[in-house]
Amino acid sequence: MKIDAEFPGGNILVEHIDGNTIDVRQDLRDTGEWWFWWALRVSGAAGRTLTFRFTNGDVFSACGPCASWNAIDWHWLGRTDSPRTSFTVTIPPRVDVAYFSFAPLYTQRHLERFLRELETRIAPGRVERGTLCASEHGRPVELLRVPAKRRNGARTVALIARTHACEVSANFVMEGILSEWLTAQSPGAAWLHENYELVVVPFMDKDGVEEGDQGKARKPHDHNRDFGASPLYASVRALQELLLGCKNRLDFYLDIHAPYLRDGINDTIFFTGQPQPWQTELDKLTALVEDIHDGHLPYHSADTIAHGVDWNKGLAASSAGWVQIACAPKFAGVLEVTYGKAHEVDVTPDGLREFGASLAKAMASYLRG
Ligand SMILES: [Zn+2]
Repeated sequence: MKIDAEFPGGNILVEHIDGNTIDVRQDLRDTGEWWFWWALRVSGAAGRTLTFRFTNGDVFSACGPCASWNAIDWHWLGRTDSPRTSFTVTIPPRVDVAYFSFAPLYTQRHLERFLRELETRIAPGRVERGTLCASEHGRPVELLRVPAKRRNGARTVALIARTHACEVSANFVMEGILSEWLTAQSPGAAWLHENYELVVVPFMDKDGVEEGDQGKARKPHDHNRDFGASPLYASVRALQELLLGCKNRLDFYLDIHAPYLRDGINDTIFFTGQPQPWQTELDKLTALVEDIHDGHLPYHSADTIAHGVDWNKGLAASSAGWVQIACAPKFAGVLEVTYGKAHEVDVTPDGLREFGASLAKAMASYLRG
């Protein structure tokens, strides 16, 4: 039996193996505070029942850990009351490689898989795949563009995710937005496609995503705290340049995150309140999302965390704060997408994609005014 993290998104430190009991902990690396991302691979343990004991806190979502036999399809293992820091699982016979993780993995290979599938449903070349920049470790940071159908006078929508590397839920919502934008037959999708260019950076912290970093609270600061006067990270510098280059046509900017690991507001899908005038615009959008969304994950506009409350104090050095000042689009906001539960309902990638589709419909309605 081998337990490792040598795969995209992998993160584990193995402390001790005693038969079928394995002591592990999440690898915090350069994270400046306690955080909870981990993802491990077990090889050569088909048919065995294993107990994983985590030695640095309760690192499970509201649905417990999740498991996959192919790193694509995941299921939650559920949360047990006692002990709360371990889980026991039987690996099915003939499953030679099993994956266990805090939440379903989403790395470059998952994006490529999604784009391959999407491209079977749309005209060739509708999604222009480019590179925003090279990351610090030499990886291409993907930049996707869907040009508007109209030649002149098109406006721009920009979406980003993973300024915090571990926040996987964001990308499933992003898939839903892209699918709706490009494949839906609805008048709203057609209108968006006609009038708006869509610009997407799926992985702002590409190295962190592929290497399985927490990414949140990275020292000396993380990618979302890098939007100050002299950014450390190439992707932040390149995004600022890109957005400044289109600021006269940028109408809508959304930075998609996932919140803390579970409990309270973290077990919901919520937007973060913004300073005026963006709060007024946010209220218009969230009312539309609540009205339009009929997927199986609940969404309530009342879950918006007000500006100035709790940790939501607003930071000029955050991506949305910087965009508001530097580009002043009509809408600039932050969406937080739960990992495990949305109001008692188990989160699934498909549920998040459904929410993304609803969000795209609401964006069309909002931008049409
Ligand atoms: Zn975040």
